[in-house]
Parts: sequence; C-alpha cells; structure tokens
Amino acid sequence: MIIVSACLAGVQCRYNGQGFPIPEVTELVKKGQALPLCPEILANLPTPRSSVEQCGERFLAHDGKDLTTELIAGARIALTIAKLVGSKIAILKSKSPTCGCGLIYDGTFSGNLIEGDGVFCAFLKDEKIKVYTEDQFQSLTLSGKKILPL
Ligand code: SF4
Repeated sequence: MIIVSACLAGVQCRYNGQGFPIPEVTELVKKGQALPLCPEILANLPTPRSSVEQCGERFLAHDGKDLTTELIAGARIALTIAKLVGSKIAILKSKSPTCGCGLIYDGTFSGNLIEGDGVFCAFLKDEKIKVYTEDQFQSLTLSGKKILPL
C-alpha cells in the first residue's frame, strides 16, 4: 500500500481549505493501491487554518501560534497507520512543513525554500520508507519509469 498526502488525492485538507489533486495519485487511490493520509487533520487541526513553517526546532503558524506538539502528534499517528498497512513507498506534497520532502519553507513566511524534510516525511524516512514528491512521481511516471511495485 502506498501512502499519499490526502491533498494530492483531492481531499480539501490544506491550510487554505483546498486540495492539490494530482490525477495519477487520485487514480492510485481509486484503484485501492494508495491510502490518503493528512497528518495535520489527524492532529485535529481545523481547515482552513493558518499556514505553518518550521522555525528551528519549532513549527509556528503564521498567526504566531506554536503548533509543534500538534504537528509531531499528527505525524506520529500517520506513521503508525503507514506501518500498520506495511507501506514501503509514499508520495507526499512538496514544501509542506509536514509532508515536504527535500525542500521546505525557511520559517520566514517569505516564500524562501531551504533544504529539509517535513516532520511526517522525516518519520517515514527514519523507517526506510521511500518518499517521492508529487513532482518526482509525475516526472517518473511521464518518463515511463515504474517506481511502484504494482
Ligand atoms: Fe496535504 Fe500533508 Fe498538508 Fe495534509 S499535512 S494538507 S496531506 S501537505
């Protein structure tokens, strides 16, 4: 079972109340090959909500609220589910403080990116679960390379 960020499957769970649907990801879910998860919803955060960025060791919302405890708790729940279903691969939304892989916003809310992983992505990598962003997944799919053991 592949774990996918729920917003990539069209679930309207992003901070702005919208999804970020990727047809290839939605197709995987429809076929029963992927499980959509949103760690921030699992953390009981509302939608819509303030955007969050990682600032050092903390996760701060744009309105100043410290959501470190919530983001870590949601990522832990999502990781538990990923392990329960035996997932080895995840396709996660890029740049998110939770799901981002390789690049995240720098904590200044100015659109600057730095190297780093979102907290859920980092937890998955610690468990040796291979993580792709939606862009990596789409370009591999378009080039005909199979990343999925299907
Ligand atoms: Fe999408 Fe992940 Fe953000 Fe949820 S936490 S809205 S799944 S990027």
